[in-house]
Amino acid sequence: MTIARPGKIVGVGRNYVEHAAELGGAVPTQPLLFLKPPSAVIGDGDAIVLPPESAQVEHEGEIGVIIGRRLRRASPAQARAAIAGITCVNDVTARDLQQRDEQWTRAKGFDTFCPVGPRVVPLDPARLEELEVRCRVNGAVRQHGRARDMVFAIPALVAYISQIMTLEPGDLVATGTPAGVGPLKPGDVVEVEIAEVGVLRNPVVAAS
Ligand code: ZN
Repeated sequence: MTIARPGKIVGVGRNYVEHAAELGGAVPTQPLLFLKPPSAVIGDGDAIVLPPESAQVEHEGEIGVIIGRRLRRASPAQARAAIAGITCVNDVTARDLQQRDEQWTRAKGFDTFCPVGPRVVPLDPARLEELEVRCRVNGAVRQHGRARDMVFAIPALVAYISQIMTLEPGDLVATGTPAGVGPLKPGDVVEVEIAEVGVLRNPVVAAS
């Protein structure tokens, strides 16, 4: 399955306990949602461009979920059955701007801040909790997360989002990042890997 630009991208903040701790935030009692603009999407091999507005752009390797059919006020069981496939996402974040701003549109929304790929892989819905994601910078492992360690499991997350906004086929849910986020600099190569999907690899460049 090739990746079309999603109609919307829904992100989830602090969905792993250790990551919430490293940012100094509490573990949310309900999913903490934000949106990334579809204009931020790039593919495997495309460059992440560091914008001049930020001095601290960080990687966030995540499990990405592609919605397969329209969902409105779905149950977790309905949500699980409506997932078309899994992909790798890098929820690139300008951490300094995230900490400065009241909300995260700027920090999460720059062009190139949403690498997705290298493909979307259909997955037996019963196996969602087996997924693991790793993020490497220049070959060194920085993050390793397991879906079963999420604060809110994937079907519950998708069901929760669908109480607020109708999810359409092709929409992307970035399910949160595990501990180990860190800064990127020009010349780095950042990889997000899910065994069932493959490796999403993106070079990092300064804005020209
Ligand atoms: Zn994230």
